[in-house]
Amino acid sequence: MKTYPLYLNGEFIATDNIWPVINPATGEPFARVSTIERARVAQAVSDAHAAFPSWRKLTGKARGLFLRTIADELERRRDEIARTMTMENGKPLAQSLTEIAMSIDHLQWFAEEARRTYGRQVPHQVDGKRHLVIRTPMGVIAAITPWNFPLVLAVRKVAPALAAGNTIVLKPAEQTPLSALGIAECVSAAGLPKGVFQLVLGDAAPIGQEFLQNPLCRKITFTGSTEVGKILIAGAAQGVKPLSLELGGNAPVLVFEDADFERAVEGVLIAKTRNIGQSCIAANRIYVQRSIYEKFLDAFTRRMKALKVGNGLEPGVDIGPLIDEAGLTKALAHIEDAVTRGAHLLCGGKRIGEKGFFVEPTVMAEVAEDALCMKEETFAPVAPIRAFSTEDEAIRMANDTASGLSAYAFTNNLDRVFRLMESLEAGTIGINDGVPSTSNCPFGGLKQSGWGRELGSEGIDAFLETKHVSLGLQI
Ligand code: ADP
Repeated sequence: MKTYPLYLNGEFIATDNIWPVINPATGEPFARVSTIERARVAQAVSDAHAAFPSWRKLTGKARGLFLRTIADELERRRDEIARTMTMENGKPLAQSLTEIAMSIDHLQWFAEEARRTYGRQVPHQVDGKRHLVIRTPMGVIAAITPWNFPLVLAVRKVAPALAAGNTIVLKPAEQTPLSALGIAECVSAAGLPKGVFQLVLGDAAPIGQEFLQNPLCRKITFTGSTEVGKILIAGAAQGVKPLSLELGGNAPVLVFEDADFERAVEGVLIAKTRNIGQSCIAANRIYVQRSIYEKFLDAFTRRMKALKVGNGLEPGVDIGPLIDEAGLTKALAHIEDAVTRGAHLLCGGKRIGEKGFFVEPTVMAEVAEDALCMKEETFAPVAPIRAFSTEDEAIRMANDTASGLSAYAFTNNLDRVFRLMESLEAGTIGINDGVPSTSNCPFGGLKQSGWGRELGSEGIDAFLETKHVSLGLQI
């Protein structure tokens, strides 16, 4: 079994302290990965700090060219990295390839944005003064990323941080380090100066503390659970460390009677089942207008039953395994809880087989508003559905959550679309669109779903300081 290295100060380094990488389709390890202690992470931060002055000095265009070369390398190695991603994460191969395509697009987007970190000149109020607003990179950035989109969620941090002239230390999730190693390999092949990008792995809590407490680390950018987000917020207080946080979601979907029916069924299906339901913008709760409720249940259940479940490496698979035992246990607990509270099970509901972490695509109707699956992210192909009567009721139920990452609505009524856009409490709103993410637009959450935005032009702002320079001049 191969043991993979980390990427520290321009070198691939294997250590004695190794962790297994598990294939969720079998539950068995298929590789090993090196890990390091907190002290070695502190060294990585120092090395990133040493690499900062010459990296920031390059023009945005020059840094953008490096990003383009990383993108080209990712494209060249697409099939192999996609396979590795499916093996460590479980997602169907076609979806790993889509994730790589999106990662390439992010790199290209930020390669372009690197040239556009504009400042401005502001009109003066006092004769003999001139005012400039300039934007400068921050220094060493720490990125902590989750397992569900192991490549693209790292790239949407690494690419803008580097484009803006920062250096970065990435700590991926323990379940999926090899996709992140793919980035390191592409960075190395692209010839980035040593220390500009580094990959670390080890016990998450002490590494998180190092990032929080090390004054050379100027910002932490994190995607993961609200629980860990709160640990970072508490820890950031002492050093007043800036944070960008993409935390959990609990996305509602509203299907109105005036929607294009087939389009709504397909849109809800993709929003629910993409990435095996393990996306923070996954449709978690589905609300359907009463007049089309029965018809929707029928059509949607038929589509869910037809999905092919299996090892993501097999052709034609729609639904792979969940990430681990804990993910499976949570999904089954949410189903049991909903049924106990009176939900009707229309399909699925059980684990498949003993090997790997597979769950049947599941549809439940008449799900109680206070069921766990309506309150928390289920992170599985489990669809709880409820009926609503009026738009006001639908909006009230949609917003009745502490999360605010994404929301979906299916309707052909333009007036309603504008009312929904303005009243739904979510950072991303998909109207007749089950896959709303794009490199070009900001992504992030309201309420407890986080702080700040990634992607779009906001994505690079998150890694720039703003300075006002007041010039006293004799003119
Ligand atoms: P999930 O529940 O999806 O696994 P987590 O928030 O636990 O989400 O994990 C997201 C990332 O946060 C992973 O890289 C994980 O290692 C890291 N992490 C977990 N605990 C901590 C912690 N105490 N401090 C910093 N990072 C952490």
